[in-house]
Amino acid sequence: MDLGIAGRTAAVAAASAGLGLGAAKALAADGVRVAICGRDPQRLAAAAAQIDADVLTITADMSDPSSGRSFVEQAIAGLGSVDILVTNAGGPPPGIFSNTEMEAFQMAFDMNCKAMIEMCRVAIPPMRERGWGRVCAITSVGVKQPIPFLLASSVARAGLTSFLKITAREVAADGVTVNSAQPGTHWTARVSKMMNQEDAGKSNPMGICGDSDDFGAAVAFLCSEQAKFITGTGLLIDGGQATGLLD
Ligand code: NAD
Repeated sequence: MDLGIAGRTAAVAAASAGLGLGAAKALAADGVRVAICGRDPQRLAAAAAQIDADVLTITADMSDPSSGRSFVEQAIAGLGSVDILVTNAGGPPPGIFSNTEMEAFQMAFDMNCKAMIEMCRVAIPPMRERGWGRVCAITSVGVKQPIPFLLASSVARAGLTSFLKITAREVAADGVTVNSAQPGTHWTARVSKMMNQEDAGKSNPMGICGDSDDFGAAVAFLCSEQAKFITGTGLLIDGGQATGLLD
């Protein structure tokens, strides 16, 4: 399907590997000019080499929320505009109530909520002025079904999801959509640190883990022309992992 976004511009955060890279690849494959960020210039260059297009690489660390702002500002300067924003960052370390210190909540909030809000604050106003924009936040299935061993992560992402939902309604009439893509268990470096692939697959109704490229294709759809009437939603991409009845 032609997504109708060829020639558009995108900033995809934390895209030197994993789900962010999957999203950047899918957008570039649809003719979008892409800027990606990550912490390490060499890893970013290696990621850019996996994308079949010219890619603007920007070094930025999302654990400092002001880097979210600076990433989007640099992407706008380099690409001329940002029509599509995909927010993303690394994930907080595992922890439960009895072993999660307040600092861990603050770090999760900074990286997985505040940095995303900073990105939106730079990207959305010019999208509204131009009458077209797409924001897709990579969050987690934990927003729909909190993950007990990822307490700080689940708390931070729930806050971000509230921000996205409220903002989506405020900017809807200006042609800007604001959604999230909620991964279940996709086989990436992060997941490989927490579980083995066989066990991760077994715990999913499909018996497998998700794939970054499939995930990226779903993100690209949410950012497409055809998705113009989808806003304020969180799309689970989880192979049926979440068990709740209501989305
Ligand atoms: P990953 O660790 O495999 O890849 C994350 C990428 O972001 C890497 O390129 C890494 O270098 C970069 N990165 C990490 N910290 C960064 C920072 N502070 N600033 C800039 N870049 C940074 O992770 P992933 O599996 O691709 O997950 C992406 C996001 O989705 C994470 O927040 C993760 O917690 C969340 N998530 C992933 C899954 C999954 O199944 N993979 C499930 C639920 C939620």
